[in-house]
Amino acid sequence: MSTQAVAEAGAFIAGAAHQNGGQPLPITNPADGRVFAEVASATAADVDAAVSAAREAFGEWSARAVSKRGELLAAGARNVREHIDELVPLLTREQGKTLRDSRIELNRAVETLEHYAGLSKALRGAFTPHLDPNTDGMVLRRPLGVVAAIVPWNFPTTLLCNKLGPALVAGNTVVAKPADTTPLTTLRFVELLGLPPGVVNVVTGTGPDVGEALVTHPDVRKVAFTGSTKTGERIMQLASGGTKRLTLELGGSDPLIICEDADLAKAASAASMGRFYNCGQACLAVKRVYVVESVADEVIEAITAKAKKLRIGPGDAEGVQIGPLHTARQRDLVADQVSRSGGELLCGGGAPEDQELANGFFYSPTVILDPPHDSPMATEEVFGPALPIWRVRDLDEAIERSNASQYGLGSSIWTTDLDRAREAAERLECGYTWINSPTKVYDELPFGGVKSSGFGKEHGEEAFDYYTDSKSVVVRSG
Ligand code: NDP
Repeated sequence: MSTQAVAEAGAFIAGAAHQNGGQPLPITNPADGRVFAEVASATAADVDAAVSAAREAFGEWSARAVSKRGELLAAGARNVREHIDELVPLLTREQGKTLRDSRIELNRAVETLEHYAGLSKALRGAFTPHLDPNTDGMVLRRPLGVVAAIVPWNFPTTLLCNKLGPALVAGNTVVAKPADTTPLTTLRFVELLGLPPGVVNVVTGTGPDVGEALVTHPDVRKVAFTGSTKTGERIMQLASGGTKRLTLELGGSDPLIICEDADLAKAASAASMGRFYNCGQACLAVKRVYVVESVADEVIEAITAKAKKLRIGPGDAEGVQIGPLHTARQRDLVADQVSRSGGELLCGGGAPEDQELANGFFYSPTVILDPPHDSPMATEEVFGPALPIWRVRDLDEAIERSNASQYGLGSSIWTTDLDRAREAAERLECGYTWINSPTKVYDELPFGGVKSSGFGKEHGEEAFDYYTDSKSVVVRSG
């Protein structure tokens, strides 16, 4: 089997390339707008074949020793790592991100698998002695069965591995559906994992067709979804049929607060990096900055200077720091949000002037000062390289504005007063707060949102709770 065979067939089922029966889907390079590959889309019958393969594999996979599952996952992760040089340009070509960012993403994906492979030796239940005379209690953790893992295009491999790691170690089998625009790296990645046939399967195609067929398949016991809030809500409705378990990792509009006593240079770097990394297409990107008035001018100048200096271009070109947006639709959406927002445009606000970039989906790093608090910049998720900055009176106003959002994924605060930072961490309505730190996600800590950012946790040991059921057993002896 070769990369080519799996990509052309469009699906990876029961350990082999599977020829999908649907229409070919074009795969476009976001840097030049050209179609460079076609992948056959799955039909309902192909989805059924994938779920059946996962169901068939479940018995043997869930019966293996947990540590054995960990060993197989670790071996698969090792093999992917050995092929990273092959995967990096493929990810850049279909997603648009820079080669450097593709390498970072793929390494992170592998690290997450290794993390959960390691945790396989620590996965334990509970034992409660003497519930009654001669009576003990046990709490078993049981896998759920077939898990559907549906992910978007911004980080196709890390977002998948956040699900594969805990799901597989816990004994589940998986059918993955990548975004229809980024199937290639996922197909090859899963092929390279080399797990026993049926343990991880991939079907490709669009959400409304293939995604919904997967979510509503009667043999899927859980849906682990990352994507937009709108789609998450649709999936929640669909998953109610059959009472399926659900994890929803949805949109965000993360605030970053800068107090007057902060290390301003570092705070400005975190804001710039947090917003422009991956061309602003990250759920936990910094999407709003609130800076206390007395230091605002210095911070605004520093962030704007950084945005202007970013080198924009095709992801595979030397020295480029920011690639194109993933699709023309995504670029137009961001442009529309910027144009509807008002405020003072400090830089960017349109496509770069370089004619060599005219066919790609580029949008210049943009900074906007004080747009209205009811503008799209404040109320919607902006999934691209546009950063609004607001001056605020004090920390209280910053927290109030931060919480005045439908979203609650992450937040950051920069201050040297740890008492204030701690108070802010308690008051900010979200699932993660970074204090004087770049917005990095750790495998060790649970990650997940509140409000319209979803529910359930990925990462951390907590992730196992979302891929297992606990079962109580009472043992009376004598
Ligand atoms: P979408 O919700 O549009 O798509 C995500 C995935 O769901 C894709 O594979 C898509 O398929 C599929 N899908 C779409 N419609 C359905 C449906 N009706 N039934 C089943 N599956 C469906 O997300 P975006 O493409 O807009 O991705 C960006 C979003 O993801 C942002 O809102 C971002 O914040 C969020 N995100 C959240 C993260 C988190 O951890 N909280 C992390 C990263 C991103 P297809 O595209 O092929 O149609």
